Amino acid sequence: MADTALAHRLSKSRYLAGLQCHKQLWWRVHEPDAPELVPDVALRNRFAQGAEVDQRARGYVPGGELIDLPFYEFDNKVAATRDAIRHDPPVLYQPWFLADETYAGVDILTRGPRGYDVIEVKAANRLKPEHVPDVAVQVHVLRQSGLPVERAEVMHLNPECRHPDLSNLFVREDVTAAVEGVLVGLPDELAAQRRMLEGPLPDVAIGDHCTRPHDCPFLERCWPKLPDHHVSKLYRIERRQLLEYEADGYASMADLPTDLELSAIHARQVRAVRSGVMVVEPSLRAVLAKFSSPLAFLDFETVSLAIPRWPGCRPWQLVPVQFSCHAEERGRGLVHHEWIADGPDDPRLALAQALVEACAGARRVVAYYASFERDCIRHLKAAVPGLERELTRIEQRLVDLLPAIRNHVYHPDFGGSFSIKKTLPALVPGVSYSDLKIADGETATVELLRLMFEGATMPPDERAALRRALLAYCARDSWAMVKMLETLRTLVAEQLELF
Ligand code: SF4
Repeated sequence: MADTALAHRLSKSRYLAGLQCHKQLWWRVHEPDAPELVPDVALRNRFAQGAEVDQRARGYVPGGELIDLPFYEFDNKVAATRDAIRHDPPVLYQPWFLADETYAGVDILTRGPRGYDVIEVKAANRLKPEHVPDVAVQVHVLRQSGLPVERAEVMHLNPECRHPDLSNLFVREDVTAAVEGVLVGLPDELAAQRRMLEGPLPDVAIGDHCTRPHDCPFLERCWPKLPDHHVSKLYRIERRQLLEYEADGYASMADLPTDLELSAIHARQVRAVRSGVMVVEPSLRAVLAKFSSPLAFLDFETVSLAIPRWPGCRPWQLVPVQFSCHAEERGRGLVHHEWIADGPDDPRLALAQALVEACAGARRVVAYYASFERDCIRHLKAAVPGLERELTRIEQRLVDLLPAIRNHVYHPDFGGSFSIKKTLPALVPGVSYSDLKIADGETATVELLRLMFEGATMPPDERAALRRALLAYCARDSWAMVKMLETLRTLVAEQLELF
């Protein structure tokens, strides 16, 4: 076989990429070293947790033989599988097959009385539509290899499972009927993908498929860069409305006709963009009255584990493991409290105790997007019932800074977003997240997992530096709220001076 034909062999993951978009598949095959294809820290974490789930799933379908070869040794894995099948094992883990110029690896293959059962393990809490073609391509390749497959299943995590009882960690769903439906058109699609790969880069228009079922890594190559203040940056604009504005030729918010009926937030955005300066509504003054001292400014960081490790937790549950709190304290001014988990043990009791102490003197507890902090506190109440009363008091005192800004202020530099990463530098010039080693929540989550579960084996300097970076990130979040509230109060005071 010619080298190019070998290089253009399909695989399960290539087929799924091609199903989303032929152009994406072409780039994946012809530019395998493209920078867009280097997995980021969040994706690497998902891969690692997915591998752990795969391995754990084998214990629920026991007695199998593992085809244990490196991921990239496709042909060796196919040969080893062929040898293993000869002695008819009841269960195989990670067998690989090649047929119809397509490789397919199977998570778990079991032999029944009339044929084989393909089991695809997913580190998700539910069956998703995109799982069906994933299983279908495996069934196709196995049948083309001569194996009678009679059943197809997706084995996913069970959101009802609670640690420490992991006996029901997985749910197995029969997807045979849905797979049989997909199989009808599958050989034609494989042939179309192979033909396409032999030719030049195909022309594919951008559309909804670029983000469904997954964000395409090549979005920046295909999607035009939008001008500042594009109408799509109108806060939570409905798709239908956006298409109407674009069809009418409006690109920037500033282009919109002055007599257009807009929501209060959109109208404020348009006013700010047209004038080029921040708009502050007089109504902000009444809202700020709720932020009565002494205040505590609170921010949590969480981790999320596919396989729960601490009592009461379900798969992928967000668990608070770090907080930062800047608290106004009588006679001491603003005092910074912080707590971070740095080992694998259940951190919630110690964290809850430190939290109760940090917020003890606060009349109001300020958060940014407070429903997240509320969920964290409720989780702690369930995990640490001995502190339920104290934690309830913190929950009852929560006050949200986000709607105070979103419903009363707009700065053109917000760029259509009210995330703290956008509002902080616009409201408090010179303060942002750009100087931090860890500068976003997703990275913080993954790095917290690394500190907790790998910290003991890290060189001490590296561990200390990671801990410092995580503390600095969380502290910036609570400090950001202190500084933004200061700015808002100044803006209100300046308005009062005008009258
Ligand atoms: S951005 Fe859209 S059109 Fe471009 S390769 Fe990705 S999915 Fe295809």
